[in-house]
Amino acid sequence: MIGSALPALDAHAHIAPDVTPAQIAALGQSVVFAMTRSLHEARQVKNRRDSTLVWGIGVHPGVAVAREAWDPKQFTHLLASFALVGEIGLDRRAGDMVGQRTIFNEVLSIVRSEPVLVSVHSSGAATEVVEHLHNANVRGAILHWFNGDATDIRRAIEADAYFSINAAMPEDQIRLLPPERILCETDFPARKVRARRPADIQSTETLLGQIWNKTPEEVRARTWWNLRTLSEQSGAIERLPEVVADTLMYL
Ligand SMILES: [Zn+2]
Repeated sequence: MIGSALPALDAHAHIAPDVTPAQIAALGQSVVFAMTRSLHEARQVKNRRDSTLVWGIGVHPGVAVAREAWDPKQFTHLLASFALVGEIGLDRRAGDMVGQRTIFNEVLSIVRSEPVLVSVHSSGAATEVVEHLHNANVRGAILHWFNGDATDIRRAIEADAYFSINAAMPEDQIRLLPPERILCETDFPARKVRARRPADIQSTETLLGQIWNKTPEEVRARTWWNLRTLSEQSGAIERLPEVVADTLMYL
């Protein structure tokens, strides 16, 4: 398949669990990794079979009600319906770091043996999050909006982690990340990124094209190829929606 025919790929966005078919149709062929923030939201989307949305099961570290409702048994039970876990992680500004660490450790120990992709939040806690990934030996991690320094990045790469980046990240930060580990994201509806909708990754692809000296089409092909490698090595390809898995197989 030639690069220009590939749909947009957004590796981290937030979509309401009750999104309608018309709203999804408005995204065209774009593939979006749609995070949930709580087990309550994950239960709402568990039986959806949207061909272009990859729903994640998450416990957002920055959302206190999501942390209070955390239940490892329910998470384990729901997990079989998901190819993606997200978002999970640590958030320095959100308080209760002890509780956050407990949940993050429990989530990682459950997902480490599962064929899933794992979108990880690390706001203000990059070094610590990367150490957790090392200890848990997670296969399919994607560090989203990762602001760690060069040492954190080296450790993350050793832990086989990938990075989903957006247009609000500093160019100097993006330059530190290896092209073969990068995916694009909008983190929609994060205001700083200025994406108009999920999968609006054009400005990120343009920015990457400038940094890598590639066309936006080449950038898109690179990120799809990266997702293929990650999906194969994590085993998540078995659980991805058929349209997404086919796109990966026929690259
Ligand atoms: Zn998010």
